[in-house]
Amino acid sequence: MTTAIRCGTLIDGTGADPIRGATLIFDGDTIIAIARDGDAPHGADVIDAEHLTVMPGMIDCHVHLGSSTWGLQERLLTPFSLIVAHALNHARVTLEAGFTSVRDAAGTPRGVKMALDRGLFPGPRVRIAVSALSQTGGHGDSVMPNGANIRPVSELPHTVVDGVEGVRRAAREVLRAGADQIKVHTSGGVMSPNDEPGATGFSPDEIAAIVYEARAAGKTVMAHAQATQGIKNAVLGGISSIEHGIFLDEEVVDEMKRRGTWFVPTLVAPLWVVRRAEKDPSSVPPYALRKAREVMAAHQGSFRLAVERGVRIAMGTDTGVGPHGSNAEELERMVEGGMTPMQAIVATTKSAAECARIAHLTGTLEVGKRADVLGVDGDPLADIRVLQNKHRLSLIMRDGIAFKSLVGVPA
Ligand SMILES: [Zn+2]
Repeated sequence: MTTAIRCGTLIDGTGADPIRGATLIFDGDTIIAIARDGDAPHGADVIDAEHLTVMPGMIDCHVHLGSSTWGLQERLLTPFSLIVAHALNHARVTLEAGFTSVRDAAGTPRGVKMALDRGLFPGPRVRIAVSALSQTGGHGDSVMPNGANIRPVSELPHTVVDGVEGVRRAAREVLRAGADQIKVHTSGGVMSPNDEPGATGFSPDEIAAIVYEARAAGKTVMAHAQATQGIKNAVLGGISSIEHGIFLDEEVVDEMKRRGTWFVPTLVAPLWVVRRAEKDPSSVPPYALRKAREVMAAHQGSFRLAVERGVRIAMGTDTGVGPHGSNAEELERMVEGGMTPMQAIVATTKSAAECARIAHLTGTLEVGKRADVLGVDGDPLADIRVLQNKHRLSLIMRDGIAFKSLVGVPA
């Protein structure tokens, strides 16, 4: 079945200038033409979006669908099966926010991805990391100071591991559990009880073994990396994306640029730790609030440096730290940090698709790509914040199927 969307303004996600009055034509789930003169093929179903800005569905390269903004007590009282139910709900909320694809940075099991792929529940296309590899006492070690481990009992492999053989086995286990990419913590972090963001995690030989196993399986590695040395070890070890990147320096930025390493900044993550603590102090441990406040200025400085030097940046939020569905605030923070609105949109479409290795499917509105389409009642190039207003997201389409339409899409 052929469908034609008559667009007011078309932003194709490549960074090219917007086009007025074009028509986006797709057959089933795949884009077959973009008619600049606005002609719709004879017999096509026509969607009138002439008052909308039409752009690719957005992509978030760092979410945790399995995580909620819960305090310690609620986490301890939640069985894993209920976490799965919440993850499916988070997927729907994320699609409602205009995100048609996400890369999950650990905590989401394969069954959630399969349920979404089978259409049992609405949600974005998902690439999962399953469980994040972490050293003993590192960012992923959830043993609390009293000795209790708050990690839920689940099908997620145990990935607090040490030594080359330990990390090698864990890497193979997460790949067996369905990981699309391997997630590793090469530094400490904000939300963990036992370490500091400035602490290095894993040695270069451990990182080398993880990268080797990922490449052997045709996969990539994403690194939670906040400390400068942890970032350097990850970049030099051949990791494909630096998540958070709080303490970048000029040397590592130049190396990232030279190698084409991705930077996924997650600028909103420390902001949400502080906001949650201000709203409900019991939802965030005091150590996490202290660490979030301490890293914020350095984080913003690192982002500005990376933008200025032309590092490849893909949008990501660490949602799960903040509420699911609030993802689009990150674009506002990226613009505040020195990007143009168009650069922020490209980071959230074309670049994010490349980083998540789904660019053959999505990320731009071009012939041969899937019809993942967002229709916005407003101009995000004039005010990027319009993307945060769900009432202004008038058309949300994934694989040519309308999840939401206020513009009369045939059912
Ligand atoms: Zn994360």
